[in-house]
Amino acid sequence: MVIHPKIRGFICTNAHPVGCAAHVQQQIDYVKQQPALNDVPKRVLVIGSSTGYGLASRINAAFGAGAKTLGVCFEKEPTEKKTGTAGWYNTAAFHKAAAKEGLYAHTINGDAFSNEIKDQVIEKIKEDFGQVDLVIYSLASPKRKDPVTGDLYSSTLKPIGQAYTTKTYNTDKDEVSEITLEPANDDEIQQTIKVMGGEDWELWMAALHDAGVLADNAKTTAYTYIGKKLTWPIYGQATIGKAKEDLDRAAAEMRTRYAGINLEAYVSSLKALVTQASSAIPVMPLYISLIYGVMKEEGTHEGCIEQTYRLLKDALYSENPKLDEAGRLFMNDWETNEKTQAKVEALWHQVTQDNFHQLADYAGYHSDFLKLFGFGIEGVDYDADVDPVVTW
Ligand code: NAD
Repeated sequence: MVIHPKIRGFICTNAHPVGCAAHVQQQIDYVKQQPALNDVPKRVLVIGSSTGYGLASRINAAFGAGAKTLGVCFEKEPTEKKTGTAGWYNTAAFHKAAAKEGLYAHTINGDAFSNEIKDQVIEKIKEDFGQVDLVIYSLASPKRKDPVTGDLYSSTLKPIGQAYTTKTYNTDKDEVSEITLEPANDDEIQQTIKVMGGEDWELWMAALHDAGVLADNAKTTAYTYIGKKLTWPIYGQATIGKAKEDLDRAAAEMRTRYAGINLEAYVSSLKALVTQASSAIPVMPLYISLIYGVMKEEGTHEGCIEQTYRLLKDALYSENPKLDEAGRLFMNDWETNEKTQAKVEALWHQVTQDNFHQLADYAGYHSDFLKLFGFGIEGVDYDADVDPVVTW
């Protein structure tokens, strides 16, 4: 099969197996060029391990620290006629690279919100390495089925309180326009908290603890985005921000509940980056295109792999991590500091359809977007016939 990108709206509906493998390899190469992550423990569970921040965390743990990694993801397997999802191919490539270096890797593909997958993970931990010392919770999902009631909840990306009119960039049409986002109602807010809040993270940690597979002094972290003025109306102070606040509650509760084993639970505040999850959030593609340009000029731009390398080295396993005012591991200060934000705000006010390509780093945004699906990667022959069926 010859595979070219099929882009529909904010998503690409296919993926390239060779390109995804090359993208994973680029991240592995980056990690191997950095000083080893000696303080990171050797038994790591990553929930949401196949793309974006979770995949990068896993690559850092495995190739930077030599850790055994157990991953959980929800990806579509390829067939002869249809490519698998990027996360499927990324995971296959990760396994292959890990095996080459004699690194243990196992991935369970299924709904992380379900009790069945939690049970399978616990069984696997018991069988293969007894306990875990680090649990990274990096799920991004539009829906969650409650494991007890079976009710299905959906998250929404809407402001709270009042409608919000702002600029946005439509990646599909290459168009800067204005949109008005209607405010969420209470039910939508509660459903978003149910999907993207801390409840499932807590259920995971309770299941691991109760099964005796959480080691003494283990750490866990979930990821959040705390932006600034430009993104607050649609992120920080919107439905998704409410869900993310619930992570703070969950982290505090878990620190108390599992004080007996000295569990350290943190929310990590990461920078805005192009991932499958962020491309779906209105306003974010425009904001990200502008902030990429500013941060590249300042020499502070990072991708998922660089952010999570620093997270592990300078925050999660550092004696003196930088914390924000809410006690979160503060990794997005290079993005949210006043000087950088002032620059992006000035651009935000100027940007129009006509000057978008001059003011924003659209090329950077678009290239990162394509890379998520294994496209646009140097050295990959996109006209070659490739077998879409890849297993791990
Ligand atoms: P992503 O879409 O790249 O990754 C999501 C992962 O979750 C994938 O591995 C996917 O397979 C998995 N997943 C989704 N639903 C699942 C399910 N039901 N069961 C099992 N696995 C499932 O997203 P991302 O941007 O890397 O986001 C990860 C976390 O980082 C999220 O909490 C997000 O809010 C946070 N974050 C993202 C950004 C950003 O700009 N992208 C910034 C800060 C924080």
